[in-house]
Amino acid sequence: MGETFIPLADLRYAAALPRVPAAHETRPPDGLVADRLGRPLHDLRISVTDRCNFRCSYCMPKEVFDRDYKFLPQSSLLSFEEITRLARIFVAHGVAKLRLTGGEPLLRKHVEVLIAQLATLRTPEGQPLDITLTTNGSLLTRKARALHDAGLKRITVSLDALDDAIFRRMNDVDFPVADVLAGIDAALAAGLAPLKVNMVVKRGTNDHEIVPLARHLRERYAGRVVLRFIEYMDVGATNGWRMDEVLPSAEVRNRLARHFPLEPLDPTARGETAERWRYADGSGEVGFISSVTQAFCHDCNRARLSTEGKLFMCLFASRGHDLRALLRGRRPDGQGYGDEEIAAAIGLLWGERDDRYSELRGAGQAAAGSGERRIEMHYIGG
Ligand code: SAM
Ligand code: SF4
Ligand code: SF4
Repeated sequence: MGETFIPLADLRYAAALPRVPAAHETRPPDGLVADRLGRPLHDLRISVTDRCNFRCSYCMPKEVFDRDYKFLPQSSLLSFEEITRLARIFVAHGVAKLRLTGGEPLLRKHVEVLIAQLATLRTPEGQPLDITLTTNGSLLTRKARALHDAGLKRITVSLDALDDAIFRRMNDVDFPVADVLAGIDAALAAGLAPLKVNMVVKRGTNDHEIVPLARHLRERYAGRVVLRFIEYMDVGATNGWRMDEVLPSAEVRNRLARHFPLEPLDPTARGETAERWRYADGSGEVGFISSVTQAFCHDCNRARLSTEGKLFMCLFASRGHDLRALLRGRRPDGQGYGDEEIAAAIGLLWGERDDRYSELRGAGQAAAGSGERRIEMHYIGG
């Protein structure tokens, strides 16, 4: 009887109700909103599920994400229509790139229907959006064609080792590497190219896989697959992160260059996370994402939307802003909020943003924070 039941899983992380400014305080979005550090809003990462069929120890360690763990109930998730509505509003603020992530985004039922809806959106200049998706690749052989046909252009597959035993140990559910490799083949065959492969490097766990994986991708795909090495990050609060397990990108690059000489490339876009290099023999490029040793917050133009519609301004934030409350809630006069009002609320939030966690961590100032628990990556997406 009008009473709202909020599942416990929804209350796991603090979220504030966004302020909706009065009509006279706002103007329609002009695609030029900037935060306190002058950073535009360009990239929206959307987590479509907090569930995953892997238990990578750096992300969802088995001991924590066990049978008793309470994932979000279906009713908490944003519907495809709600996601598309929010994406349209973000596009009006300047977002031109969407990345679907999770959890494992291919576990969200009919995710290709969402992609088809997002593919209809246009920037104010009339351009289609750059829509991509990050996946562990486990379901790609089945899904690649449908994703492409729905309008997905590109895809990123996470793959931490070529060696089957190491890969099975890292995903911790005994998933075979051959199935992910087959998924990469299926994605390329479906036209999802160029394809990126993300490898999180953990010293002592998979660092000896750097060269074999690079060699395999070079030889098999001749430049159609770009391998990117990601520094193991202290994201969330459950992975037991230790600095001595981080292998700095500079060292990864040196190890690789001993086998395959590399040359630096210029960035293609502002706010790009990966530093790009190419093989000197012309057989493609590789990237290095150095969020620990070389923070790139000064250009960070990414917002993150969690599975149940909380907006996070930084991967390391501990508090989100409850956009779902605006989508589903009512104004004091009983009417639902309009797009303009939600746009104004988002504009206000972005304008107040001053997050730069990695830079502060690098400078030794990263606060243990407000004492609040940092959000987990599977919940807001990578
Ligand atoms: N399940 C999908 C996957 O693994 O590709 C998408 C979600 S996952 C959270 C997104 C990306 O974050 C993956 O490439 C994953 O390797 C990366 N990631 C997760 N935890 C990380 C950590 N602690 N440090 C660095 N990268 C991490
Ligand atoms: Fe799942 Fe991706 Fe996290 Fe691994 S990194 S546990 S595949 S969400
Ligand atoms: Fe962006 Fe936060 Fe990462 Fe810095 S730490 S690059 S602000 S997400």
